[in-house]
Amino acid sequence: DNLINKIAAGEVIERPASVVKELVENSIDAGSTRINVRIAGGGVDLIEVEDNGCGIPAQDVGTALQRHATSKITCAEDLFNINTMGFRGEALPSIASVSRLELYTRYADEPGARVTAAGGTIQDTEAFPGPEGTRIVVRELFFNTPVRKKFLKSPVTEQSHIYDIMSKLALSRPDISFSLNSEKKLYFKTPGNGNLRDVLIAINGKDFAEQFIDLKISGETCSAYGLITRPEFHRINRKNQIFYVNNRIIKSPMLARAVDEGYKGLLLSREYPGVIVFLTIAPGEVDINVHPQKTELRFTDEGPIFRLLSRGIRDTVNGLAI
Ligand code: ADP
Ligand code: MG
Repeated sequence: DNLINKIAAGEVIERPASVVKELVENSIDAGSTRINVRIAGGGVDLIEVEDNGCGIPAQDVGTALQRHATSKITCAEDLFNINTMGFRGEALPSIASVSRLELYTRYADEPGARVTAAGGTIQDTEAFPGPEGTRIVVRELFFNTPVRKKFLKSPVTEQSHIYDIMSKLALSRPDISFSLNSEKKLYFKTPGNGNLRDVLIAINGKDFAEQFIDLKISGETCSAYGLITRPEFHRINRKNQIFYVNNRIIKSPMLARAVDEGYKGLLLSREYPGVIVFLTIAPGEVDINVHPQKTELRFTDEGPIFRLLSRGIRDTVNGLAI
């Protein structure tokens, strides 16, 4: 069974940032309003995710680290749950199988529990009083998969991937306060007050955030909102172009092209605007036949979405000039 977990880990856990993503998504699913992440050594030495969510009931703590059909309620409106079904209940066992893991959790009025595991084998389970919520500590990632470990980049690079995914997750939920710490440094702490712009300020600073204007578009099968840069504020790459579809982080060349079209004639060549765009797309308009880990998806009909976004951006940017 540990072997199966290790194989599954190969699919789900590519690098430390994947661990952060899976753990933080679990914390979000648990209804947390505060999620604190601490890393060391680019996440290879340590990843710690602490939340104030609902916690894991004592009877489920053991199974949470084993492959199982998850009991998590599937929201019918969330297309991506249908998409990721085959992968549900695999993240935590996969992470445990390639690390030394400690899990502290307390659910409602229960006494709370602490579980330790190494390479996927549970070593210890004991009652442990702690605050309501969950804290998961992952140490020595890939200690038992040396080949995988060898393919990791430098700690600085792995850390920048973690910073990247944490920023995107924080931007996706302005109602939750996120913090990211590395060793003794606080990278950011978002206020959790529900305001998207305040999240951007917390992560990138006021000067950067001031270059962004509000975007709001509505169409028949699709609507969008977010923040986009003033045309005179360009970047040299697409790093500051972040797209979400139904609040999931998505990579989409089509959406990037729609942004280019919206800013057409306003930018010099090899310059890119910064955009943070949240699209809401009706069920049936998104192709679900895509691998869940690749964060790519296809649209049933790209045309209307392309036109809506490019026109919406153009009108917003032109509105500035008037
Ligand atoms: P999935 O998220 O697909 O259900 P995971 O392997 O990521 O599977 O997590 C297994 C289960 O452990 C979850 O279904 C959930 O019940 C529980 N769990 C994991 N992390 C948390 C957390 N931070 N707070 C509460 N429950 C959690
Ligand atoms: Mg999960």
